[in-house]
Amino acid sequence: MLRLHEFRFHRPGSLEEAVALLREHDGDVMPIAGGTDLMPNMKHRLFTPGHVVSLRHVPELRGIESTGGELVIGAAETLSVISADVRVRRHAPSLAKATGLVAGPQLRNMGTIGGNLCLDTRCTYYNQTWFWRQALGFCLKKDGHVCHVTKVGRKCVAAHSADSPPVLITLGASVDLVSADGRRNVAVEDLFITDGIHNTVRRPDEVLARVRIPLPGGGLRTGFEKLRQRNAIDFPLLNVAVAVGVAEGDTVESISVVVSALGSRPRMITGLDRIAIGQRFDDDLVDAIAERAHQQCHPLANITVDVEWRRAMVPVHVRRALRGLVPAPPLAN
Ligand SMILES: Cc1cc2nc3c(=O)[nH]c(=O)nc-3n(C[C@H](O)[C@H](O)[C@H](O)COP(=O)(O)OP(=O)(O)OC[C@H]3O[C@@H](n4cnc5c(N)ncnc54)[C@H](O)[C@@H]3O)c2cc1C
Ligand code: SF4
Repeated sequence: MLRLHEFRFHRPGSLEEAVALLREHDGDVMPIAGGTDLMPNMKHRLFTPGHVVSLRHVPELRGIESTGGELVIGAAETLSVISADVRVRRHAPSLAKATGLVAGPQLRNMGTIGGNLCLDTRCTYYNQTWFWRQALGFCLKKDGHVCHVTKVGRKCVAAHSADSPPVLITLGASVDLVSADGRRNVAVEDLFITDGIHNTVRRPDEVLARVRIPLPGGGLRTGFEKLRQRNAIDFPLLNVAVAVGVAEGDTVESISVVVSALGSRPRMITGLDRIAIGQRFDDDLVDAIAERAHQQCHPLANITVDVEWRRAMVPVHVRRALRGLVPAPPLAN
């Protein structure tokens, strides 16, 4: 049986109290929301904080509203609530789809959007028990000095494995990060860095409080596709989010394609403006975009699934996401 280590559990009733606790115990504290990722990770001794601060009873982190041209989602809202919410389904159908495909139903009932955005990266050599890791030899991300994936270098390439961030990037969303010093707003596109050990710019004393999604313009169509071993529960082996602005006559006005679950941060496919803007949105264009994504994506052996197959699945899923685009109509708040 895997047991938790001893720690002190705090249950603040306000955001102010929560960030004060994170500041007071800086270096030996972690926030917890649904606990669906942090709990197993603590049982595997990947994290052993002396203090754990629960965000579940913080009212400022709850609620979904469309106001001031934005859809604002509290970080402690669960994935089940978000995927079923009528405003999310209407304004951001790709987010409703992605949150509805995370893990399985029980995990979505507990797991939150804040926890999804702050999810630890994953790797075959890392998400294992202490005994397993010790038997092989620890790695760079936790307790060791070598990367078992690259074998060389001092860089961890564990996979960003969350489903909502790629979608939020294509929607131009941002997040509010709150600490005892105040609040800052960071675009989701800038939240992630290429570092498998700690892949966000969020400081340990900051709480991700809200997600802000600009209400889309009339012609925006969005999509999401996910590859995993068992559709009922597994983490992504690959996910693809797309958003295409289409004008009258099916002409492309804007395009954003983000692929994730391959490296340590979601990857925005570049150079699409050049091949897509002003063009008709047809099968030839879809093929050209899929080919471009294939050229730019190079999965690593951080997950126990054939690397070449994962790469070959990139254009397949980009095509599926583009062919399944759903319009997101603007509407009054
Ligand atoms: C079997 C299984 C399958 C899974 N499949 C998927 C999947 O397909 N796709 C996917 O995306 N995820 C998957 N997950 C991971 C997880 O369930 C989800 O990502 C979930 O959204 C995490 O949210 P949580 O509230 O439970 O996070 P927690 O476990 O509570 O926290 C996760 C991390 O985020 C930090 N954190 C949480 N909330 C905040 C906040 N508001 N501010 C700052 N830091 C915060 C915590 O300190 C911790 O480091 C799976 C998990 C399991 C066990
Ligand atoms: S990518 Fe390398 S350093 Fe990172 S978790 Fe995997 S084995 Fe460890």
